[in-house]
Amino acid sequence: MLVALLMGTYLLPAYAAPESAANAVIPGEPAQLQSLRVFSTSTMDADTSADRDSFTITKTVPAGAPYSRTDDTFANNPNSPIQWPFLVGAPISSWFGYRDCDGCPTFHKGIDINPGMGTPIQAIADGVVTEVGANDWDYGTYVIITHQIDGQVIGSRYAHMIEGSSPLVVGDVVTVGTLVGQVGSTGISTGAHLHFEILLDGVTPTDPYAWMKAKIGS
Ligand SMILES: [Zn+2]
Repeated sequence: MLVALLMGTYLLPAYAAPESAANAVIPGEPAQLQSLRVFSTSTMDADTSADRDSFTITKTVPAGAPYSRTDDTFANNPNSPIQWPFLVGAPISSWFGYRDCDGCPTFHKGIDINPGMGTPIQAIADGVVTEVGANDWDYGTYVIITHQIDGQVIGSRYAHMIEGSSPLVVGDVVTVGTLVGQVGSTGISTGAHLHFEILLDGVTPTDPYAWMKAKIGS
């Protein structure tokens, strides 16, 4: 039922409008709450404010990043069998590969997307939930979904979600667009974002941005 409600929320034109997408990246901006109302009875509120005062969205693409755009870095097609984790484009603040920053892993196995605290995350394709983590030291609350895409086994990982925001358990069969959870800041994270990985053969990280662009072309 929760998923059905969220899917309905997704279809609201206001949420899909560019103005809302822009507002959604600002922590605490009321516009993003539009997508959260179905959670009004949940206990997530206590978890969502901790990092707001100190968190700053990074708008600058790190040196050496292979892409120049920092906002609306993708355009999701809600009718595609493979979709981005969010229905609208959002800033990407950290790219796949080696990076140099205090407290970060040396090799970044995914990309960080910043649509704002609490934003619903969607499954990128049909698949089966193969891993669910809570309180992981690194990934916090995370889910891995395993897909069969073009004859290959592909894993997608969604990390740092709000604790308790994912309705999924191992073995769940999901379809593209299924709610995975909500953007949070659990695990090693300095602010609300989705850490998103694509795992070839379910194991080996590859550049999620390049992989998604190649698969869906937007
Ligand atoms: Zn990350």
